[in-house]
Amino acid sequence: MKAIRVHEFGEPDVMRLEEVGDPKPAATQVVVRVRAAGVNPVDAYIRSGAYARKPELPYTPGSDAAGTVESVGAEVRRFKVGDRVYVRWSLSGTYAELALCEEAHVHALPEGVTFAQGAAVGVPYATAYRALFQRAKARPGESVLVHGASGGVGTAAVQLARAAGMTVFGTGGTEEGRRLVEREGAHHVLDHHATNYLDELMTLTGGRGVDVILEMLANVNLDRDLGVLAPAGRVVVVGSRGRVEIDPRQLIGRDADVRGMSLFNAGEQNLSSIHAALVAGMGNGTLRPVVGKELPLAEAARSHREVMEPGSYGKIVLVP
Ligand code: NAP
Repeated sequence: MKAIRVHEFGEPDVMRLEEVGDPKPAATQVVVRVRAAGVNPVDAYIRSGAYARKPELPYTPGSDAAGTVESVGAEVRRFKVGDRVYVRWSLSGTYAELALCEEAHVHALPEGVTFAQGAAVGVPYATAYRALFQRAKARPGESVLVHGASGGVGTAAVQLARAAGMTVFGTGGTEEGRRLVEREGAHHVLDHHATNYLDELMTLTGGRGVDVILEMLANVNLDRDLGVLAPAGRVVVVGSRGRVEIDPRQLIGRDADVRGMSLFNAGEQNLSSIHAALVAGMGNGTLRPVVGKELPLAEAARSHREVMEPGSYGKIVLVP
């Protein structure tokens, strides 16, 4: 099969399309024929060599994909050859024609959800779900600011929060991104590059602020986030690309919390519960993964450059 291989950490061009052997499933494993693979920022951090968790070289990047079941091990019970599935973790990497996975990391892809959409689910939707419901403990009737709502995690968070009965504020950096955020269900859309957009947020909330903030770029926003939190508000730090100085008195006055989250810490029990909710949400149409761009697998390097650029619009996926 063809797969992207990384022989040394570095710039996007270290990813090369190569011919490698086809994977074979052990008893509890499934091989999935990849029809689309999701590109996440973490794939780019890992490839660059800057990420704390490094795979052994050489490796094939990617954890997210969707496609059909190609073969199953002797003990696999939930799937048969030909089933439509999405993948949230792969032992062999998903930037490839075939991906070897543990059965537990494969989920049914509901009818009407395309393979490209299925490739947008694994990391982004699980992150958004965990940030909102498991870390922020968001409740129906509360308000949430999705700070960075135009990308993979952000669009997922907007859909999840809206479906849960929250008042949703979302930000985007471009006109096109903001239109997307509104279409996906935000009640109010703001421009995170505008000078006074957080004043506007305070006006929209009658001076109270928001109960929950999902923060995609904490090194830029965390200090100002604390000033727009409602009493007992919670900021969940999803993404950060550097250091930041905050004023802790903003937390004291509000009994507020800043909570970190990493999907790697979720644990199998939480993850299977999260994916049960995601499959249900896709099945009833409240979750509709947004695919902004489909690129051929051979253009993996371009996908990594683009996923790190501003102007997000849903998800970038690779098509083998
Ligand atoms: P993405 O698709 O590239 O989206 C990035 C988002 O950040 C876009 O909405 C972008 O908006 C927004 N953004 C850019 N500048 C911003 C600013 N000044 N203020 C607020 N938002 C801004 O990436 P993603 O997959 O959604 O992931 C988002 C972040 O979460 C990344 O840093 C990623 O590494 C991290 N993440 C963490 C976990 C975890 O387990 N903790 C899991 C998944 C992702 P515009 O492009 O419209 O400006």
